[in-house]
Parts: sequence; C-alpha cells; structure tokens
Amino acid sequence: MRLRDVDAWVFDLDNTLYPTGSTIYDVIGARMTDYIARVAGVDAETALDLRETYFQRYGATLSGLILHHGVDGRDFLDYVHDVDLSIVDPDPELAALIARLEGPRLIFTNGARSYAERITARMGLDGLFHDLFDIEAAGFVPKPQRGAFEALIARHRIDPARAVMFEDSARNLETAHALGFKTVLIDPEWTPGETLEEHIHHATDCIKAFLRSL
Ligand SMILES: [Mg+2]
Repeated sequence: MRLRDVDAWVFDLDNTLYPTGSTIYDVIGARMTDYIARVAGVDAETALDLRETYFQRYGATLSGLILHHGVDGRDFLDYVHDVDLSIVDPDPELAALIARLEGPRLIFTNGARSYAERITARMGLDGLFHDLFDIEAAGFVPKPQRGAFEALIARHRIDPARAVMFEDSARNLETAHALGFKTVLIDPEWTPGETLEEHIHHATDCIKAFLRSL
C-alpha cells in the first residue's frame, strides 16, 4: 500500500487501536451482560446468549436490544462504557505514527463517542482524529451493515477507492471491501505468509509495525 494512494484513514477502535487481549473489552462485555439481564428480565446465562445472538445477527448487541427490547441506545452506551481506563497505557509511538498520516483520520466504532474520547485521551491519541464516528452517528446501524459505512462515507465525503480501513474484525472488512476500501486486518494471531481472505488486502499482527512500514 502506498501512502500517496490514500486520502482518508479509517480506524476501528476496540482491539484495533489498543491491543487485542486488553481486559477493558472484557469489562465492557460483562457490563453488557448485566444490562441485558436487567432490561430483559433474564438470568446472566440467558443474557450472555442474547448478547452473542444479537452481535452475530446485527453486528452489535445494541441493535438487537433496540429492535427487540426498546432499549434507549444512549442509556446502554453510557452504562456499558462506564469503565476504568487506567489499565490502558499511553502509546506515544502509535500517536507519532498516526500523526504522520496525511489526510483525514477517522475513528469508526460500534461503541460510543464519549468512550472513544476517553480512551484516545488516555492513550495520548487525542487531537489526532478528524472525527470519532460512533454507532449513534450512524443512526444506531452498526458495522458490518452497509448503512453504517454509507453514513460514514456521506458524512465525511470519503472516496472509498482512496481510503483504507483498519479493523480487527474480518467480518467488518467484508463490507469495507465491497464498498471499495483498502482493508487492513489487525490480528495478533496472524503470521507472515498466511493466505488472506479475498476481502483482506493486508494483515498484520501489530498496527504499529504496519504503520511503520508505510
Ligand atoms: Mg474492534
């Protein structure tokens, strides 16, 4: 991938900009399960099933909760993202690598903007992004649904043919690829030489190593 071919840089947040395996995402997941148990009036095991089912079916648990349980999206996002971020470390090297990318840099997350603000501030990435485009900005349509990408593209007048998307979710990259984005999969298990699925242009086990190589 050549830098001069890219006008816009789109980053997923969770498990992309901060390392996969971070326990933060587990904490958020546990809060989702709690929330579902409360609003659906079910036990923790059933709540976990619903969480997984809605995630698989719609791309984000929240979308199923809105559709089937009349949940207020903002209320859910505020609750699940109310987590202690002190276990995430500042990452000055990542900040420097992102800062040198020319053109709009965007975060595109199925989470909440306020959470994206807090976590980027914690990591020292604040001020580097043109927008933190969250699930609410997408009208609560999540990745990998096409509508979420179309909302981002329209809002920021992105030409997908000149944009790249970084993601830890291969499923989300399928839509990105179909719309014309260049795609980069962040996968800590990936090893050089491994065959990539057709919709994945590049893969890396470390986003910093990839950005360094540009
Ligand atoms: Mg992610």
